[in-house]
Amino acid sequence: MNLVLLGPPGAGKGTQAEKLIKEFQIPHISTGDMLREAIKNRTELGAQAEKYMTAGELVPDEVVIGIVAERLMQSDATGGFLLDGFPRPVPQARALDQFLQENGKALTAVVNIEVDPQILIARLSGRRVCGTCGAVYHVETKQAKEPGICDLCQGELIHRADDHEETVKNRLAVYSEQTEPLIQYYRESGLLLQVNGEKSIDEVYREIIQELRNRVDP
Ligand code: AMP
Repeated sequence: MNLVLLGPPGAGKGTQAEKLIKEFQIPHISTGDMLREAIKNRTELGAQAEKYMTAGELVPDEVVIGIVAERLMQSDATGGFLLDGFPRPVPQARALDQFLQENGKALTAVVNIEVDPQILIARLSGRRVCGTCGAVYHVETKQAKEPGICDLCQGELIHRADDHEETVKNRLAVYSEQTEPLIQYYRESGLLLQVNGEKSIDEVYREIIQELRNRVDP
């Protein structure tokens, strides 16, 4: 399975990615994670990427394409992969197609998790995260037993700066500007699978698996 996962912030992409990589035994390749790791380790790549990331801008295509190509050459990715956060602008999608073609591969599918923006705003602005262990709660749909305190480790629950409503709206606007052309690109190449991300985690997962089965074995 050579997959690309698309979806706005709050669509449940991370949760579905975790389930998919277990099911298909493929590595989860997230460009955001790789770039954050490079910054943490103070590598040259990290130094190049940091100023763009801090400003909320995209890291230049040639940098990102380079790290993805290198990652896809590693042995654990030869039997399949799940790309998350890449491609973003269309030239990255074209570069990915070219790279795969040169290596005798192709994408199996591009899964786009769709959620109404109003639901995303409610999901993200109500989200609270444990500052110690990272467990995720929601003020309405997943309350901690004791308000403000993590059930798992008793850490303090925080409202991330980028989960405040105005910032959420901005993140969604940036996402839709970046990825609408990408969705069109994959629709035209016949790879796009649209999944309704407004249902429960298990229902969304079942829909993804069903769509992938139909694709692989119609
Ligand atoms: P993410 O965790 O996917 O939201 O990515 C965090 C940040 O990393 C983004 O805001 C960009 O600055 C950078 N980034 C991640 N993936 C890409 C990409 N495919 N192209 C350009 N920049 C990226």
